[in-house]
Amino acid sequence: MTHVFGDLTIVDATAGSSSYGHTFGGPVDRSDALPDQTNGIRLHMLHRFDMNDPLMPIQLPGLRWLPLYYVFDFRANEVGYQLTSDSKMITFFSDNEPNISDAESWPADDFPLEFSPHPIRLALHDFDPTDLDDVARWAGIFGIRYLDDDRLAELKRRIDTDCDEIGDYRPEGDDYFDYLSSPLWQGTPNNPCINPECSNHQIPRSLKMLAVVPYKPIEGLEIWGGACVDTLFEICPLCRTIRASNQCG
Ligand SMILES: [Zn+2]
Repeated sequence: MTHVFGDLTIVDATAGSSSYGHTFGGPVDRSDALPDQTNGIRLHMLHRFDMNDPLMPIQLPGLRWLPLYYVFDFRANEVGYQLTSDSKMITFFSDNEPNISDAESWPADDFPLEFSPHPIRLALHDFDPTDLDDVARWAGIFGIRYLDDDRLAELKRRIDTDCDEIGDYRPEGDDYFDYLSSPLWQGTPNNPCINPECSNHQIPRSLKMLAVVPYKPIEGLEIWGGACVDTLFEICPLCRTIRASNQCG
């Protein structure tokens, strides 16, 4: 299932009805997301969240709708977008991306131009930021910097013990706790803000994780043509530009 993140808050998004308008799939919700506005590169609508729902762990001032867009066309690996209203957005692609295709190509043959629409409901996910098991399980999302010194020391002891038990090297140095990357298989992204106008544009790790959409967000629906890939959404705390990327899940 998809997870949406706020400040030390996790919400599960699953198929089901609610009194709010959350969806997965369907057409893009604004003309700025159409290919004629994005150099011909098609964006797919994944979730569209209704921030009127008090369960939404994030609010964006002046906006009701939070769409999660991704670019499955291999001409880009990432897309960014700044929602300027509920009907407008500014789209960004990275410069000089490695390993991208020159021509339109997709994760699978017959890749859908849009995903079939589904209603979505939200539920609060149990997360206790004082419980070290919870902290370790979600460290790739929230980090561990909010822990007090005693808990940090206890967490370090646990990591060292785990490493010793499985015969792994103990981590070292400033990035010690990067060892904990769950639930992200390839670790927390180092991304700066994709918006060239933003002062976070040159600053790696300046973004906050907004959502992780798994390769099978809904029972019976795979969105990566069978590949186990997570689609990650991060948001810039300064300009609120959303950056969508992917990693092995
Ligand atoms: Zn920014």
